[in-house]
Amino acid sequence: MNRPKIVVVGSSNTDMVIKLDRLPGPGETIIGGDFIMAAGGKGANQAVAAARLGGEVTFVARVGADIFGKQAIQNFQEEGINTDFIVVDQEHPSGVALIFVDQKGENSIAVASGANSRLSAQDVAAARVELENTAVLLVQLETPLETVRYAARTAAEKGVRVILNPAPARELDDALLSYITMLTPNESETELLTGVKVEDEESARAAAQHLRSRGVANVIITLGAQGSLIVTEEQSVMVPTKQVQAVDTTAAGDGFNGALAYAIAVGKSLEEAARFANLAGAFSATRMGAQPSMPSRDELRQFSGE
Ligand code: ADP
Repeated sequence: MNRPKIVVVGSSNTDMVIKLDRLPGPGETIIGGDFIMAAGGKGANQAVAAARLGGEVTFVARVGADIFGKQAIQNFQEEGINTDFIVVDQEHPSGVALIFVDQKGENSIAVASGANSRLSAQDVAAARVELENTAVLLVQLETPLETVRYAARTAAEKGVRVILNPAPARELDDALLSYITMLTPNESETELLTGVKVEDEESARAAAQHLRSRGVANVIITLGAQGSLIVTEEQSVMVPTKQVQAVDTTAAGDGFNGALAYAIAVGKSLEEAARFANLAGAFSATRMGAQPSMPSRDELRQFSGE
């Protein structure tokens, strides 16, 4: 089978998840809840999502010289991901995320970035040949902006399609946006980037047009249980997702982006790719944890009822 090349440049964390009846408020201690430790980090989650669906994935990242970093690399290797460009940082620890999830699947997250915050343009330059010869580059914002910009530019200059998932949200400069083929914010990221509060289809369309006016050709806003909205020069289409009982939405966006990268890399149209990505996002919302919730090709096929 055709295994499309996908390069992911981004973060790797170890997630420590506690499941609670409700999220704790300031100064509050809540007892009683399951604890799960699992591999996470937006970059790593998206890399695993794309690999499980059949992508030939290279992951460019930085981890610490500690047990978490060692486990992460071993885990990527088991997923069939190329780890040649994961740098082991001798000074800074591996990234860690502390996550609370309530009964409705809503979450609250704190991240200690550690080595992720040291991922440099030089680290990316070591993987230059990979970036220049891939079908898709997928990046997020859990690593330094200069590094993301360098990666996006390197790929874009060779005509490689670049998907930027602008998460966690931060201001983006026009230079970075000029390298992006596809931007995939969720509702809150869209609001931060545009100042437009996404409340319905109309406001989402207005926000997407705002982003397009800043030079991004294709905008896909993910809208949780509502699915996603594609806005390009040619089309403005709402793509519905599968209705599910959400258990933990922690990495729904990562499942969506990894699957989107895969689908674009195999040559699906934007609408088909968004439909496929919606399914992966919905699947991920039905499972606990970040990477454990990413579907394989067969799981996704069954889930879609094909
Ligand atoms: P993020 O996780 O970044 O906040 P979203 O919540 O928008 O992103 O989820 C990404 C995608 O995952 C959505 O576009 C949708 O297709 C799917 N998804 C997320 N939550 C649900 C849900 N409760 N039911 C069905 N699909 C969902």
